[in-house]
Amino acid sequence: MQPTQHTTLLIIGGGPGGYVAAIRAGQLGIATVLIEGQALGGTCLNVGCIPSKALIHVAEQFHTTQGYSNNSSPLGIKTQAPTLDIGQSVQWKNGIVDRLTSGVGALLKKNGVKVIHGWAKILDGKAVEVDGQRIECEHLLLATGSKSVDLPILPIGGAIISSTEALSPTSIPRRLTVVGAGYIGLELGIAYRKLGAEVTVVEARDRILPTYDKDLTLPVAESLKALGITLYLEHSVEGFQASSKTLSMRNALGESQTLETDQVLVAVGRRPHTRGFNLETLALAMNGPAIRVDNRCQTSMRNVWAIGDLTGEPMLAHRAMAQGEMVAEIIAGKQREFCPTAIAAVCFTDPEIVVVGKSPAEAEAAGLDYISASFPFSANGRAMTLESKSGFVRVVARRDNHLILGWQAVGAGVSELSTAFGQSLEMGACLEDIAGTIHAHPTLGEAVQEAALRALGHALHL
Ligand SMILES: Cc1cc2nc3c(=O)[nH]c(=O)nc-3n(C[C@H](O)[C@H](O)[C@H](O)COP(=O)(O)OP(=O)(O)OC[C@H]3O[C@@H](n4cnc5c(N)ncnc54)[C@H](O)[C@@H]3O)c2cc1C
Repeated sequence: MQPTQHTTLLIIGGGPGGYVAAIRAGQLGIATVLIEGQALGGTCLNVGCIPSKALIHVAEQFHTTQGYSNNSSPLGIKTQAPTLDIGQSVQWKNGIVDRLTSGVGALLKKNGVKVIHGWAKILDGKAVEVDGQRIECEHLLLATGSKSVDLPILPIGGAIISSTEALSPTSIPRRLTVVGAGYIGLELGIAYRKLGAEVTVVEARDRILPTYDKDLTLPVAESLKALGITLYLEHSVEGFQASSKTLSMRNALGESQTLETDQVLVAVGRRPHTRGFNLETLALAMNGPAIRVDNRCQTSMRNVWAIGDLTGEPMLAHRAMAQGEMVAEIIAGKQREFCPTAIAAVCFTDPEIVVVGKSPAEAEAAGLDYISASFPFSANGRAMTLESKSGFVRVVARRDNHLILGWQAVGAGVSELSTAFGQSLEMGACLEDIAGTIHAHPTLGEAVQEAALRALGHALHL
């Protein structure tokens, strides 16, 4: 055993939660050690948010160019049929990942954080072991993230892949079946379809993106159809026979069915990563599969903190980052708590979906007297110039004082509206504030203003 090291803050996990906590702690002069077993940046930078958006961009460009080559685009652009060098696409994606992860390394160094590459094992609430080295700390921050949920009937290997393998393809399969119609399955399924695969999606529930309301998911369902993606709802997968490339499944009536497919992508969700590093030894209070934390991200043990996916839903990178920043500030003695008015969630499907705050159903369930209005992109000039015909922006506000409770949108490029939506909620904006703000023309944002105007009863362009 090497001599024991001491630090004020010890962070396990260098994903967006852990590395942001470390940077902020370093800025605040807290002696910080961060232990990461794989690569800095965690799921998000290496096998999640960033690589998936890179692959979606490649797919979009390829698909658009294909439209130019087969005369299905109305723009008057003509090209030869494009070819795809997927090896080069993956290399480009890896270049972005490398740039970002080495940037994180540089920021940690600049802020005086000591990074140890290795797998941490918890010894107790104030001590961790990594590669035979004992490190003692005053504060232990757990940021070990999440793992894909495995289906025992579809063990990852060979033709059965998880999102991690799907993000680094060596070739595009002729036929891909995606198990799970959540956001990860659909983002990747749509990308693979645009890259040329015949894609089938199998979902046990009765609709796609079950956590989003139907009005929002309908344009995505229509787009799946238009892209030629086959969808089996209320079907449960029962197994995959590699020799015959046959996936077997059963419908809600119990009837069995088979599908021939070259690859199966399992995307049935993620669970907090709580196993394999001696977490049990702390006997922390749990919240289902996640670690229970209070509104300061403190666990049931004093000076043991937990952030990010490890603490459960919503498992989103920006939530993990915000929690990480807050915990560092609390340890530095600042008065902070985690009480966002809303956390935006985005599906980078085609079209994109963004939700921030309460939907009409959630406002109803909360017993609020609310008004809701939407404005369609079919009446928005900028959407037309982007060839985007489907989708809308919807606002939900209190009836009495017009305080905005939530925003939802579906359409091309709406992910970028999440900023305006989040700001209006955090700043306590009312419908009149948004309706009275001059929105630049021509932008998709005008639909935001028009939705607010419509809720007030006087939309201008409808
Ligand atoms: C395909 C895909 C697409 C996604 N797209 C989006 C998106 O568009 N937007 C979004 O907000 N979120 C997205 N997510 C989710 C997002 O990646 C996570 O919410 C985010 O990464 C969580 O951050 P975290 O810091 O909690 O954990 P992670 O990013 O999972 O990081 C945890 C880190 O801890 C390390 N670790 C674990 N145990 C130990 C140990 N014992 N010792 C040392 N190190 C350890 C791991 O190696 C890992 O690097 C996506 C996820 C996937 C899989």
